[in-house]
Amino acid sequence: MGEHNCCRKSESACLKKRAYELWESVVMRMAVFALTLLLSSSAYAEMEQGTFKKNNPNQGEIMKKNDVITNAAVYVLPPLPYAENALEPVISANTIRFHYGKHHKGYVDNLNKLIVGTEFVGLPLEKIISETAGKADKTAIFNNAAQTWNHTFYWNSLTPNGGGEPPAALKKKIEASFGTVDACKKELATAATSQFGSGWAWLVLEGGKLKVVKTGNAESPLTKGVKPLLTIDVWEHAYYLDYQNRRVDYVNAVLDKLINWSFAADNLG
Ligand code: MN
Repeated sequence: MGEHNCCRKSESACLKKRAYELWESVVMRMAVFALTLLLSSSAYAEMEQGTFKKNNPNQGEIMKKNDVITNAAVYVLPPLPYAENALEPVISANTIRFHYGKHHKGYVDNLNKLIVGTEFVGLPLEKIISETAGKADKTAIFNNAAQTWNHTFYWNSLTPNGGGEPPAALKKKIEASFGTVDACKKELATAATSQFGSGWAWLVLEGGKLKVVKTGNAESPLTKGVKPLLTIDVWEHAYYLDYQNRRVDYVNAVLDKLINWSFAADNLG
C-alpha cells in the first residue's frame, strides 16, 4: 500500500482509513471466494447427473436428471445420434419423426408415469427390465422400459453411410460364427422377416460366439443372458410409411446401407 495523502493531516484518521480499506478488501475476497465455490459446486452437481453415452447404451445409456419439483429421477428421451433426415432415402425423416418423436418418446413418458411411487424410481433401465421381465403384474413397466432401451439401441445400430465391411475384429468373429459377412446378413434378414408380428432381430454375443436371435414385441435379449450387439426394429411403425407391407425391402436396405458395424464392434467390449 502506498502512502496515504491523509497521513499528513492526522495520524489517527489515517490509521482508521487504512484499517477500513483492509477490512473492505478482506470482505471482497471472501465474497469472491464464496461465489466461486458456489458456481463450481453447482457445475459439479450437473456433471454428476450423468449424460447419454452415445456409443455404449449397454451401460446406463438413458440420461437421468433430477426433477426439481418432485425430486424423483426421470428418464429422458436421448437425442438421436444424427439428424432426422440423415437416414434418407432408406428411412425417411417422416418415419423418424413419428418413430422417434412419438413412439420412442411415448415409451419414455409412459415409463415415467408408471414408476411413480414404485421401487423402480431411480433405477438404471437395465435393472428395471431384468426385475420386471416375466412378471405378470409388471408387464406395463417392463414393456415401456424395454421399448425405451430397445429404441435407443436401434438408433445407434443405424448410421448414415452404414453397411459395408465390419471392423476387422468384428469381421473375424462374424466369419468364425457364420462363415461370411453375407451369411450373417442373410441370417439377420431371415430373423427380421420371419418374426411374426411386432418385434426385433438382434446380433448377440453368447459365450464368445455371435448369434442371431429374434424377440417379439418388447422382449429383450438382455433378459436371456446374452449381450446385444445390434438390432433391427421390425414393428410396422419402423417401416410402414416408407415401405408399407414390404418388410423385406426395409430390412435388406437397412442391412446394406445403414447397419452400424462399428457400434456392434464397440459392444463386443
Ligand atoms: Mn419401434
